[in-house]
Amino acid sequence: MAKIAMIGGSGFDDPNILSEIRQVKMGTPYGPLSSDISTGKIGSIEVALINRHGKGHRIAPSLINNRANIWALKEIGITHIVATTACGSLRQEIEPGHIVFPDQFIDWTKSRKNSFFEGDQVAHISMGDPFCKKLRQILAEVAAELQIKHHMSATVITIEGPRFSTRAESRMFRALGADIVNMSTVPEVVLAREAGICYASIAMSTDYDSWHVSEAPVTWEMIVQTMKTNVESVKQIFFNSVQRINYEQCECKTAIESALV
Ligand SMILES: [Zn+2]
Repeated sequence: MAKIAMIGGSGFDDPNILSEIRQVKMGTPYGPLSSDISTGKIGSIEVALINRHGKGHRIAPSLINNRANIWALKEIGITHIVATTACGSLRQEIEPGHIVFPDQFIDWTKSRKNSFFEGDQVAHISMGDPFCKKLRQILAEVAAELQIKHHMSATVITIEGPRFSTRAESRMFRALGADIVNMSTVPEVVLAREAGICYASIAMSTDYDSWHVSEAPVTWEMIVQTMKTNVESVKQIFFNSVQRINYEQCECKTAIESALV
């Protein structure tokens, strides 16, 4: 059984990176998943893949059923999630084409289901360190060994989308302390912590967001172009990391225990 899953974001939705692929169809108490889960192998390691935006990128960021996706991964026994995401850079030094391993987030979303606990039980989960430290460490070590340009820590601000930021917003995000901007990390990372799953993100910087004086307004076409070169780096990092992860107990697994009211 797979212990590790990749949630594939924009530009990263091809299950053929695995061998011996099987499709897992399942329902959840929260409704349908973004896509079927594909399971298969990287070397001797069993891996699961789910495509966040659905087949052919048809699910807008605000409409992603994050609770169904995370619930299903938990249900099949996943203990570790590596999530890929395209992001805009809010810092000169994070150049398009660089890889970023965020360690903090700012939640700028507006209308998303952000907890599994909204019925009879309330949970206030600690979020001081939202991403799994151990998993981030491995991803960054591998990136360093492969000599892939990367940034060890960064704050990601997740916006509601689907539109990109205005210049005023982009400048404000910089002033708030954000380093990169995307539309997917929150609430995915929060739900993973509630579910006791270790979660880390590989963010691919595709462009300077609109704060950048020399930057023409961001277009989807520009992003897709840069992403093509990024995808290869992300694959290499993921492939080399899955062999190294210690799939035993991590403190992420029990975080929910002290959160229940
Ligand atoms: Zn962990």
